[in-house]
Amino acid sequence: KMSADSLAALVRTIPDFPKPGIQFRDITTLLADAAGLAELVERMAAAARPLDPAFIAGIEARGFILGAALAHALGVGFVPVRKKGKLPGKTVGIDYVLEYGTDRLELHEGQIPDGARVVLVDDLIATGGTALAAAQLIREQGATVLMALFAIDLPDLGGMAALEADGVASAAIIA
Ligand code: 5GP
Repeated sequence: KMSADSLAALVRTIPDFPKPGIQFRDITTLLADAAGLAELVERMAAAARPLDPAFIAGIEARGFILGAALAHALGVGFVPVRKKGKLPGKTVGIDYVLEYGTDRLELHEGQIPDGARVVLVDDLIATGGTALAAAQLIREQGATVLMALFAIDLPDLGGMAALEADGVASAAIIA
């Protein structure tokens, strides 16, 4: 069984992406490693399974990769939370504020039923703005966000604390 440290070592940091001054945590190196991917998904499954979710909701785009693997591991369905204009069917959405301007997250209408138990997944939480918006959109469907689950937390940016302040429990595999 792989240690948390060796899992973290599979993530590489790319300086100045997508903008100068940003240290981008790149998980593609972890995804490409068979043992690393298995360990990450197993750890996420261990966190989510006791909550007995009916759906995993994954945030575009890297939340799709991990969310779908997790949903399969738990034997539940996967629902994509997409950026605006990408879903082909009728959508419900939420606008949220970014550093510069606003963005919009969307779900297919009716895909998360009223009362559903949902675990929300993304690869990384920074400020928490994206996950907060996704959690609010899911709640607006009448569903319960049992937990927001991330591969990586950047604790200095306070995202998990912001989620907690909004009543969303969260966990990260690599901090
Ligand atoms: P937040 O909304 O918490 O500030 O930013 C988190 C969102 O931006 C997530 O959807 C995440 O995929 C993406 N993101 C921000 N910084 C990074 C990074 O350094 N690495 C990766 N992989 N994703 C990032």
